[in-house]
Amino acid sequence: MSQDGGDEMVFGEVRFREPAKMRRPDRDPRLACVACQTPGPGDLPVFLDLAPADAIERHALSDTTVELGGVLLGKECVDPTDGAPFVWITQALEAKHYANTQASFTYTHDSWEEITRERDRLHPDLDVVGWYHTHPNFGIFLSHHDLFIHKNFFDQPLQTAYVVDPIQGTRGFFQWSDGGMVQVGGFHLCAERHERAALSRLADQLENLPGSPAGGIGASLSPRLEAELIKMLNRPAPSRVAPGDGLALAAFLGFLGTMGLLMLAGLGLWLHYVDTRLSEQSHALTVLAREVEESSAGRRAAHDLMLEKIGDANPETFLARFEKLAQARDEARKQLADQRSATEVLGARLKELSEKAGGLEAELAATLKSREVFESEAKEAPKLRDEVEELKQALDDDKRELTDQRAILKSAEGEQAAKTYKDLKFYTLTTWIGALTSALLAVTAVWLYVRPQLSTSVDNADAARRAL
Ligand SMILES: [Zn+2]
Repeated sequence: MSQDGGDEMVFGEVRFREPAKMRRPDRDPRLACVACQTPGPGDLPVFLDLAPADAIERHALSDTTVELGGVLLGKECVDPTDGAPFVWITQALEAKHYANTQASFTYTHDSWEEITRERDRLHPDLDVVGWYHTHPNFGIFLSHHDLFIHKNFFDQPLQTAYVVDPIQGTRGFFQWSDGGMVQVGGFHLCAERHERAALSRLADQLENLPGSPAGGIGASLSPRLEAELIKMLNRPAPSRVAPGDGLALAAFLGFLGTMGLLMLAGLGLWLHYVDTRLSEQSHALTVLAREVEESSAGRRAAHDLMLEKIGDANPETFLARFEKLAQARDEARKQLADQRSATEVLGARLKELSEKAGGLEAELAATLKSREVFESEAKEAPKLRDEVEELKQALDDDKRELTDQRAILKSAEGEQAAKTYKDLKFYTLTTWIGALTSALLAVTAVWLYVRPQLSTSVDNADAARRAL
C-alpha cells in the first residue's frame, strides 16, 4: 500500500514457464468447487484450494493492525479440452521476515529466501503463481507500491495478486491484462469432495453469507471466529476496555483536559501579573538604590570607621577618632569653600584682566599709529632744523642792525638828526595850516562876488513869472 516504491525485494531469476496441461478442477468429478463472488466470462479462472484459502484468512486475521503477506504456490495450467489457461493455487506460504507498517507490505531479502527454501523443501513440484497481502480496513485495490512489486517480481502472464481486507471482510484477485493489473469478478474455491461442507461454509463466510453454523457436525471453527477467540485469550485482561469503561475514561480524560487548559490559562494570567509586579518593583528598587546611594555618601566615612574599629577599641578612643575625623571633614569642607570663593575671585579678576587687556590692545594700536606718524615726521626733522637755523640767522642780523641804529641814535649826529626831524615836522604842520587858511579865504572871496548876481537873476525870474 505504501507509495515509497522501495525495492527491497530480491527475487530469483524468473523464467517464463510453459503452462501445465491439466483438466480444470471444476471439470474433475473427484473435486468440489464453489464460485466465490462472480467470475466473469473473460476473466482468468482462478482456483483456490480450501487449505490455502483457510490459511490465508487465518494469517490475515492474526494481526489486523499491520499489513501481512505471503506467496501463492500452485500451477499455471491450460485445459487441453479448450486450450484455455487457468491458475490453480494449492498452497500458501507466509512471509516471516518482512518490513511492514499499517499501510505497506514489503518482502525482504530474508523473507524471499525463506519462502524459496520452504517451497524447495515442502513443495518442490509447485510454482510461485502469485502473492497475497492484507489491506486492513482500506479495501481491495493495488497501490502503486503493490503494482511495482507485481510488475517487477510476478511478471509471468498467469501470476496473480490476492488482496484481503480482514476488517471489512472483502477480498479479490488481480490478473494481468494488457500490461496492467485488473481485478477479476470472482474465483473458485476447491476441495476434495468429502470436504464439501467445510468448503461451503468457508465460501459463505468469504461472501459474508449466513451459512451453516460454525459448530456444525464435523466442522472446525471458522478462521474469523478462531482468530477472534485466539486474540481474546492471548490479550491481557487490563488492555480490554469495556465500552462503558471507555465512555467513563473518555469523560475523565476530557475533564482532565479541560482542567489542564483552565490551569494553563490561570498560570498564564498569574505569570503576566507577576511579571508586571516584578518590573514595577525593579523600578522602585532602582529609585531606592539611587536615594540610598546619595544619602549614605556623607555617612560612609563614619560607617567605615565603625565597622573597622568598633570591635577592638574602647568607645572613648572611637569617639575621639570620630571627632577628629569630623573636624578634618569640616576643615576640608571649609578649605573647599575657601577654594571655591578664591576661585570665584580669581575668575572675576581674570575677567577684569581680560577686559583690561582688551583696552591695552586698543591703546597699543593707537600708540603704534602715533609712532608711525612720529616716524614720518622724524624724517622731515632735518629740513625743519635747517629752516630754524636760517630763521635764527635772520633774527641775528636784525638784532645787529637794530643795535647799530640804536648806537647811532645815541651819538651826537643822532641827536641832531632827531632835532632836525622834529623841526621838519613843525614846518610841515605850519605849511599845512597856511595852505588851508589861504584856501578858505579864496572860497569866501569867491562866494562874496558871486552872490549879488545870483539875487538879480532871481528878481528877474520873479518879474517874468508875475508878468505872465
Ligand atoms: Zn497493498
